[in-house]
Amino acid sequence: MKSTVNKRFNKTAFQAAVNKYLVTKLATLPEQADAHAWRLAMEYALAETTTMNLLATEQDPKIKNARSVNYLSLEFLIGRLTGNNLISMGLYEEVTVAMAEFGQNLTDLLEEERDPALGNGGLGRLAACFMDSLAAEEYPAVGYGLHYEYGLFKQSFNDGRQQEAPDVWRDETGYPWEVIRPELAQKVGFYGKVEEYTDNDGLNQRRWLPGLQVEGMAWDLPIVGYNNNSVYPLRLWECRALAPFSLERFDEGNYVAAQASHIQAGNLTKVLYPNDNHDKGKELRLMQQYFHCACSVADILRRHQAAGHSILDLAKLESIQLNDTHPTIAIPELLRILLDEHHLSWDDAWAISSKTFAYTNHTLLPEALETWGEQLMTTLLPRHMEIIFDINLRLMGEVAHKWPGDIEKLRKLSIIQEGDERRVRMANLCVASTYAVNGVAAMHTELVKRDLFPEFNELFPGRLHNVTNGVTPRRWLKFCNPKLSALISSKIGTGWIKDLGQLQKLEKFADDSQFQMDFMCVKKANKQRLTDWVAENMGLTINPDAIFDVQIKRLHEYKRQHLNLLHILSLYHRLINDADFKMQPRVFIFASKAAPGYELAKEIIFAINKVAEKINNDPRIGDTLKVVFIPDYRVSLAEIIIPAADVSEQISTAGKEASGTGNMKMALNGALTVGTMDGANVEIREEVGDDNIFIFGLNVDEVQALQAKGYNPYDYYNSDQLLRTSLDLLAGDEFTPGQPGLLNATRHSLLAGGDPYLVLADFADYVQAQGRIDKQYGDQKSWAKMAILNTARNGKFSSDRSIRDYANNIWQLNAVSR
Ligand SMILES: *Cc1c(COP(=O)(O)O)cnc(C)c1O
Repeated sequence: MKSTVNKRFNKTAFQAAVNKYLVTKLATLPEQADAHAWRLAMEYALAETTTMNLLATEQDPKIKNARSVNYLSLEFLIGRLTGNNLISMGLYEEVTVAMAEFGQNLTDLLEEERDPALGNGGLGRLAACFMDSLAAEEYPAVGYGLHYEYGLFKQSFNDGRQQEAPDVWRDETGYPWEVIRPELAQKVGFYGKVEEYTDNDGLNQRRWLPGLQVEGMAWDLPIVGYNNNSVYPLRLWECRALAPFSLERFDEGNYVAAQASHIQAGNLTKVLYPNDNHDKGKELRLMQQYFHCACSVADILRRHQAAGHSILDLAKLESIQLNDTHPTIAIPELLRILLDEHHLSWDDAWAISSKTFAYTNHTLLPEALETWGEQLMTTLLPRHMEIIFDINLRLMGEVAHKWPGDIEKLRKLSIIQEGDERRVRMANLCVASTYAVNGVAAMHTELVKRDLFPEFNELFPGRLHNVTNGVTPRRWLKFCNPKLSALISSKIGTGWIKDLGQLQKLEKFADDSQFQMDFMCVKKANKQRLTDWVAENMGLTINPDAIFDVQIKRLHEYKRQHLNLLHILSLYHRLINDADFKMQPRVFIFASKAAPGYELAKEIIFAINKVAEKINNDPRIGDTLKVVFIPDYRVSLAEIIIPAADVSEQISTAGKEASGTGNMKMALNGALTVGTMDGANVEIREEVGDDNIFIFGLNVDEVQALQAKGYNPYDYYNSDQLLRTSLDLLAGDEFTPGQPGLLNATRHSLLAGGDPYLVLADFADYVQAQGRIDKQYGDQKSWAKMAILNTARNGKFSSDRSIRDYANNIWQLNAVSR
């Protein structure tokens, strides 16, 4: 390993830098500084190194001349950076010592950092893991996102109901790891009109005259390669209003309206939209998307041309990966620049653009597939709308050629959805305009081919790929679970941190009694750590010897937190009413945010909290059953919960979860999965073997067959007494004394509401699987073996492997070591 960062560490110089920032940046003195100031000063001192390495990487001729990938995502859920950067820089121990000499405990300082929550959930976290892996694997890369002033809302509970508060992730003094790059600022237009004109060669040209311009300011966050010298930028664009003289083109009458939109423009990147897997079609959201795309495409072209490359070679040197359809407008934006500014012919422009873009599909849920109204698009982006129609014209030509006279095919594949109002289908635009489309787990990709885009798959053979998601082993094992990391390294060395497949070598210890004890000892310590956290932060006592059964993920009906709740209700009922019923003590742990506009999701949170309140205080139950809903789910919370998990709840309706990554994080940390045959659960099962996972429920074909024949939740309600009793507990005032029916929304959705995600259909099998878990946990030795095998056999789910798959199969990218 030729990392030099570590060797260059000079404790005295580092401490001098910390002192310097205490005084010059934080205006305090070492004697007066609190932990907050110490932490910031430490980060500023460390950022000196990462900023220098960022620039050095950027300036390296090897990088400038190498093919690189541009990862475009509206979300990067990066989590706290300091601990992870210390690990990647190889400075964790050194800085622990250096700060200790100031009387500061590094672990405490790290706990002081707030999460930059610039994403909603899995999709944003994936983008963050991918950036970590790109840098670790030394693939030239730039991540492009938005610099939201407010990240995902902070969640608290008031009498069990979710409250949202704004999330200010940057300190008043700034965020030490980021650096502003004013020389990279871009201008972005909106509205206005398209003009036709004749150029000097007598050719007809078109150009867009925007009615409003804003500025995109670049902020770079350093993505530090693990144990190497590469630091790649995560470049986040902040929207700023240009000076009011940009309003010149408006006449008197439009002045106020223009002023208003001017103010609005300055607010474009104020806040992250809090929806996960749901498209809400708001004008400001479309403006955010275009702003992100325009800044990013302009910056990619700037870099390309500054390195001396011809625009005609763009596709040879740059790949642009679209993380879901959110950055789709980058496609017409690049075409607009090639056509209207570089005056390329359509064929030449298309040849470049269609070889530059690739698209990742993240969902099959209809409500998550983005469409934008033609009218809004035309008003906001008139030239882009023209270009989209041009793309569609050619696509329709290809479809007509392939399936002559087949109107149905034209209607289905068209980028334009006909109806009362015509709408632009962003996923169709992506599939038609990119050289590669990928799903995010084997089963998801099969469903993309079979159910979502079967005709496109025929029309463009070879375009659809699979790249199974992964998680970075640095954050999700080494950093979040130091005890397990140390145990693993003591047996197989440290190679696994960069090559997670090496965890396989643990298999030979799976039957070793001493190793089993050590492994369970680590698990127990992590459960104790979470127990202490829950006591300190929630005032709740839980038993670290109980099974820790964990469901942490966004709240969504398809993820079925209410199935978990029904199981809890069934246990509660049996504990009270069935004297013969025995179970291992269990703590059910939830953490989850609901989109503020998703009423039913918020009702489910309320129901879980109310049920928890009653059960946790019911003297008949004691320590046997506890339910803990930890507020404000975020990356730093996941880092405490995941190492403590015994059971990982991955119980989505088969066919609905594209991949999941929470499932990977927990299995890697030795939790056993109870899950459906959905998303990456299918591949986890393949890796760990049927004996080391608890699979239940309908598979995707059975789900589709049941829905085709007509699903009736009452069939299950009427015939399964345990189900009926459990569900009916929600109807009265058992959990809301004196206020019957307060929890009815959840129950109603599962009965009269039609139970769209087949919760009742999977209930009985789920209860059975949970029974097997209960029994299995009674045999600690065999449980330990299963847990060890889960850690040993989940090496496939490293995001390093995902990134190598992208590099080899989609981006055609080579690593460049510096
Ligand atoms: C991993 C992660 C997710 C994704 O979890 P799933 O169970 O795959 O939905 C969401 N939020 C945070 C904070 C995460 O760390």
